[in-house]
Amino acid sequence: MRLATYELQGAVRLGAVVGDRIVDLAALSERDGGRQVPADMLAFIDDGAANLARARQLLAGPDAARESRPLAEVRLLAPIPRPRQNVMAIGRNYKDHVAEGARARGQAMVLPEHPVFFTKRASAVIGPEETIPWDAKLTEGLDWEAELAIVFGRRGKDIPKDRAYEYVFGYTCGNDISARDLQSKRHGGQFFKGKSLDGSCPLGPWIVTPDDLPNPHDLQIASRVNGQVKQQANTSMMIFDIPTMVEELSAGLTLEPGDVFLTGTPSGVGFARTPPEFLRPGDVVEVEVQGIGVLRNRLVAAERR
Ligand code: ZN
Repeated sequence: MRLATYELQGAVRLGAVVGDRIVDLAALSERDGGRQVPADMLAFIDDGAANLARARQLLAGPDAARESRPLAEVRLLAPIPRPRQNVMAIGRNYKDHVAEGARARGQAMVLPEHPVFFTKRASAVIGPEETIPWDAKLTEGLDWEAELAIVFGRRGKDIPKDRAYEYVFGYTCGNDISARDLQSKRHGGQFFKGKSLDGSCPLGPWIVTPDDLPNPHDLQIASRVNGQVKQQANTSMMIFDIPTMVEELSAGLTLEPGDVFLTGTPSGVGFARTPPEFLRPGDVVEVEVQGIGVLRNRLVAAERR
């Protein structure tokens, strides 16, 4: 199932995307009169199994078409417009990306022994139809990172590898927008500030549940800037697979329903190119993950207050 958060006449709704139409699940459940489906994605995920079962039943019923409208008529928001906690992420999870980073810094390549985790501020999340603000006085180095994002569906701690997928609610596309100069120079080699500027965590266009994406480790993943391909890889090339990341991340740390995790980016980012390339106002940056869709955002110059 493809689940999207969208805005219609000023209200935030939750819909199932079927072809080029979107079905308002809360309205459909009201019409049906049975168990109500929440109109909020986090509330939906909190009782995910029951809500998914109810949504499937409703979509197969006779009234689904009556509560649907063309996707083009609604404004898609990030599937989870405001996560309850920071978006978690892994750095250096594709060998070619580790290699290009080392090359750009003039260092020897060292593959990580364990996943390198960091977070992005929850308020950095934007949806597929929002713009990424660029403040020329603050950063000259806004870069793209195409990523497969995991949305967790259950609370869990110390999750063993062989149970990792039980905790996955679904997948979406993420763009780990990174201000390289803030990341590596101004704030001394940390990830947080350089990856947490407002608008630096585009997510979407919707969440695809695992039944529609049975093998998350065989997906083409790409990014494009103004239509030009910058990254092109496959999720099979990850250094740490999803079970390993979930086991290491959840060791002594409780994952919650609705938590978002970015699984790393392949090679082809801007800072490691010769010469380096960074995003500029007017640029359109796209992330595409096979089986999910395209996440497209435009950069706009932001006035500093
Ligand atoms: Zn990243």
